[in-house]
Amino acid sequence: MHHKDCSSQLEAQSVYQKNVREIMKVRAAGEKPLAFVRTYGCQQNVADSEKIKGELAQMGFSFTEEADKADLILFNTCAVREHAEDRVYGNIGALKNLKRRRPSLIIAICGCMMEQEHAAERIRKTFPFVNLVFGTHGIHRLPEMLSTVLTDSCRVFSRGEEEDTVVEGIPVQRDGAYKAWLTVMYGCNNFCSYCVVPYVRGRERSREPEAIIQEFSEILAAGYKEITLLGQNVNSYGKTLQTPISFAQLLQKLDAFPGDYRIRFMTSHPKDATHELIDTIAQSRHISHHIHLPFQSGSDRVLKEMNRVYDREKYLSLVRYIREKIPDASLTSDVIVGFPGETYEEFQQTLSLIEEVGFTSLYTFIYSPREGTRAAKMPDPVPRGEKSRWMDELLRTQEKIAEKRCAAMVGRVERVLVEERAKSGLLSGRTDGNVIIEFPGSEEMIGTFRDVRVIEAGIWVLKGKLENDSLKNRKNGGFYYG
Ligand code: SAH
Ligand code: SF4
Repeated sequence: MHHKDCSSQLEAQSVYQKNVREIMKVRAAGEKPLAFVRTYGCQQNVADSEKIKGELAQMGFSFTEEADKADLILFNTCAVREHAEDRVYGNIGALKNLKRRRPSLIIAICGCMMEQEHAAERIRKTFPFVNLVFGTHGIHRLPEMLSTVLTDSCRVFSRGEEEDTVVEGIPVQRDGAYKAWLTVMYGCNNFCSYCVVPYVRGRERSREPEAIIQEFSEILAAGYKEITLLGQNVNSYGKTLQTPISFAQLLQKLDAFPGDYRIRFMTSHPKDATHELIDTIAQSRHISHHIHLPFQSGSDRVLKEMNRVYDREKYLSLVRYIREKIPDASLTSDVIVGFPGETYEEFQQTLSLIEEVGFTSLYTFIYSPREGTRAAKMPDPVPRGEKSRWMDELLRTQEKIAEKRCAAMVGRVERVLVEERAKSGLLSGRTDGNVIIEFPGSEEMIGTFRDVRVIEAGIWVLKGKLENDSLKNRKNGGFYYG
């Protein structure tokens, strides 16, 4: 696929940017206008919000955590399950009074939900105080849309008119100081029968490796210690580029950067996970030994109905290869309980797969019908209450597994990126395998890697103590920089 040159699209925005900046300056009467941005859903949305904040900052906005102080409130929404959507509607409703008190407040709703016509229509009809609605495709045109809202005092609705392009050069205002998100590809082509993502995020398109490498080096230069590469199915990265490149090859290029840092990525689709990818992780200096590999169901019949394109045996053979090449690999996964037509016996196969693999942790979801998807039309006879009982059984099973895995870590020395001071007063960080660990230590350790010995295991959080000789046991060969 050839991406058209989008630099002109961004240039066109600079006039609008200036316009918004001028108008907001007058409105805020000498103060900096304030924006409140709330993000729902996955890391992809978090990364999109960081771009939106980058654009808002360019237009002169500062940010606030208090909605009632804001001149602009923006919700970046998620459509993946009904529960996520219900929360958004509830929270939009709660803005009504704020807007009544301060009519100049601008309210914008964007993201995956707004790419669905029925959701955008509901906003149009039920929430007349919302000024701006746009989807996942329109982020680079935010200055233009805001300018129209402010200049013409009209409501703006913009959804899915754009073609599936990659727009480079949008400024990014990152939330974290040590951990950064880096999107390598957009969209999804897989059309798993339950999933709305391909409808709201469009077709798969990869960024050029040069653009990713450039951003990666900037992130490292800014002092970030952990970079997570994002895509709905990173294993199909690069296949449609004019000069195709595999995800494993991209990882190799990034891993070659010197320095003390760690690379993570998500999400890996089992159907496209290659031995090349696993070998690359095994041989790398910086890639975390944590692999998020969603299996969704342990039943071949259900997997087929889900259109996942792999079966139980293919998944398990992939896991065997990972365990062989990366013995300390930490595996996590996504599971759906109660897919339409799933029987209790089929659900038991999900449990047995969980036992067989021994995941570090699981993201578990009760099936939620999504309008427009194939599964939403399938007969779904099992009542919600029954599915909840299955879910409880699943959680109990996984809890025992996680407990056992954590107990086995006691005595081991883990390389930990120290992130913050926890409520307990201890320092808190994550191991290479993405398990939270807390230990005593001083403030200046935050934002650095430390070797921590596990001394006690819980189910979700480990307790540890600093190793005196922090340079030993270093996975990255003790490489130091600067
Ligand atoms: N692209 C990723 C997942 C994106 S959505 C992948 O394929 O692995 C994140 C997770 O939400 C999915 O893995 C799935 O477990 C869950 N999910 C998606 N649609 C769902 C639905 N309709 N009901 C319940 N869970 C769903
Ligand atoms: Fe949804 Fe499947 Fe695409 Fe993941 S791979 S985003 S589950 S359609």
